[in-house]
Amino acid sequence: MFELLVTLCLSTVCAERVLPAAMPTDKAQCEASMNARSTGWVKAHEGYRVKGQRCVAIETLDDRAAKTTETSPGHFVHEGLVEPVGPKNAGDIANTGFIVGDKAVAVIDAGSSRKVAEALYLAVRSKTQLPIRYLLLTHMHPDHTLGAEVFKEAGAEIVGSAALQQAMASRAEAYTANLKRLLGDDAFHGTKIVLSDRGVADSETIDLGQRELELRAHPTAHTNNDLTIYDKTSSTVWMGDLVFLTHTPALDGSIVGWIKLLSELRKNGAKHMVPGHGPGRAAYPDGAKPTLGYLTSLAQQTRKAIKAGESLNTALKHIGQDLRGDWKEFDEFNPRNATSAYVELEWE
Ligand SMILES: [Zn+2]
Repeated sequence: MFELLVTLCLSTVCAERVLPAAMPTDKAQCEASMNARSTGWVKAHEGYRVKGQRCVAIETLDDRAAKTTETSPGHFVHEGLVEPVGPKNAGDIANTGFIVGDKAVAVIDAGSSRKVAEALYLAVRSKTQLPIRYLLLTHMHPDHTLGAEVFKEAGAEIVGSAALQQAMASRAEAYTANLKRLLGDDAFHGTKIVLSDRGVADSETIDLGQRELELRAHPTAHTNNDLTIYDKTSSTVWMGDLVFLTHTPALDGSIVGWIKLLSELRKNGAKHMVPGHGPGRAAYPDGAKPTLGYLTSLAQQTRKAIKAGESLNTALKHIGQDLRGDWKEFDEFNPRNATSAYVELEWE
């Protein structure tokens, strides 16, 4: 099978992008459709122009494909780097992956940029030619969602929590500006935010062909639009950023809600989980313990400071400081978490 590579320029910045088709194409199909596809893409992306295009056999694109581990048959995980978003990593900092059934594929999360999502798309296509029917987004944060358009082009329906679409729509402009600044023109090249097509209000089961995935939307915790995905076949739950390992947890929802959710993780028969950041596989439900421990201590210390009448500024100097442990990016995220916790708990 062949993939279409198009050199696209935005002002003076040019890069070769992968433009997926809804169905895999052979060489003749790829070449017959390439003009229409590249023209269509440029029409939908203001300011870009086509500089060149070619159809390339998927086997020759291995070095561009994301590295994945098949943790269980048909269950692939790509580990994001535990480091800040930047030009060098193109925002490849969150765990993503895909699950292959008898009839279709579901991709989970899309990375911070088109570049990262194209790599994941190529990883899918290097393993299977089945249709990519779903892109499942675990929550709104840009490191998980900004590459989504690649999978929309590949024919996927984008599904998230029922609260996801509104949450992303209201932040689209800010997320785009922020990531563009952090990634730079080269790594951000081609990236355009797209919203989810459909939302899950409570729970829903989708079938990839002899492989059911249980999607579950949760009350506000890490964010107000967290979704978990349970693949019964591999006994694995994709937790999104409800679980962090190595990377300091980031609070953008409710500390009370998050603690409640992780304290009550059901023993649903799952054995493994995929956290949003850090190692791509942990035990279920025990993998949530470090996140839960951090949040519980942070809440305790915050309540104590509020009770003692400390101002936010005073409290911020010490809340959570003894929780540093082995967490990475601690100085970036702990103060923000402490601020969120203080603001939430001040009124309880
Ligand atoms: Zn997040």
